[in-house]
Amino acid sequence: MNETARIINQAKKEGRFALLETEAKSICAEYGIPVTKFNLAENGQEAAAQASQIGFPVVLKIVSPDIIHKSDAGGVLVNVKTPAEVEDGFRKILENVKKYKSDAKIVGVLVQEMAQQSTEVIVGAVKDPQFGQTVMFGLGGIFVELLKDVSFRVAPITAQDAKEMITQLKAYPLLNGYRNTPPADIDALASILCAVSRLIMDYPEIKELDLNPVMAYPKGAKTVDARIILE
Ligand code: ADP
Ligand code: MG
Repeated sequence: MNETARIINQAKKEGRFALLETEAKSICAEYGIPVTKFNLAENGQEAAAQASQIGFPVVLKIVSPDIIHKSDAGGVLVNVKTPAEVEDGFRKILENVKKYKSDAKIVGVLVQEMAQQSTEVIVGAVKDPQFGQTVMFGLGGIFVELLKDVSFRVAPITAQDAKEMITQLKAYPLLNGYRNTPPADIDALASILCAVSRLIMDYPEIKELDLNPVMAYPKGAKTVDARIILE
C-alpha cells in the first residue's frame, strides 16, 4: 500500500480527523509537492542532533493531535541557530504548550529546515456539500483573511485551470514581479494546485486541506505548513 493510504487508514483506525503536520507533509511529498525537510524528535538532544543534520537555522514546532493552530499555542520557534538553542527551544515549546492546554497529548517536536522568506501563498481544498472537492488559491495573510481575494475551482483541474486560478487574483501583480520582489514561479505553483487536485480526487474522505503558507520563489516553491482534515 502507498504511504498516503497507510497514513489515512492509520488516522481512521485511531479515530483522528486532523492529520499531524508530519503526516500531511509526507502525503504532500508523495504527490510531488515540495515541503521543508523535517524530522520528529522526542527529546532535546535528539532535536539538536537532527538540527545539525538538517543544517542551521531550523524551525521547531509542536506535534500534537490536540494542537491545530501551533503558533497560537506558542508551539512554533523560527530561526533557531545552534544546538544549544535547539535544546532550550525544545523545552520552551513543551512549556508553552503545557500552559496553553495542560492535557494536550505530545507526539514530539518537529525539527525542520527553515525556508527562505518570500511571498507567501495559500493552497487549499474544501469539500463543498454541493460541488464536491474544490481547490482554492490565494495570497497569504490579509489577502485571504481580510480581502477575500481567493479563487476556487471544482476538482479535478487542468494545468490551464490552475494557471487561471493564479492569474485571476486581484493580487496577481504581486506574483508577477512588483517593485523589489522578483516574479514567482507560476508553473511551480500551478503544479502544486494540480497535485492537490489529484490528491483530493484520489481520497474523497479528505474534507479540508491547507498548505499555509507556501513560499513562492522565482524558481520553485516550498510548503512550510500543511494541514489535512478527514471527514
Ligand atoms: P500554524 O499555522 O499551525 O500556527 P505554521 O507551521 O504555519 O504554524 O508556522 C507559523 C509561521 O511560522 C508560518 O506562517 C511561517 O511564517 C513560519 N514558519 C513555519 N515553518 C517555517 C519554516 N520551515 N521555514 C520558514 N518559516 C516557517
Ligand atoms: Mg500555518
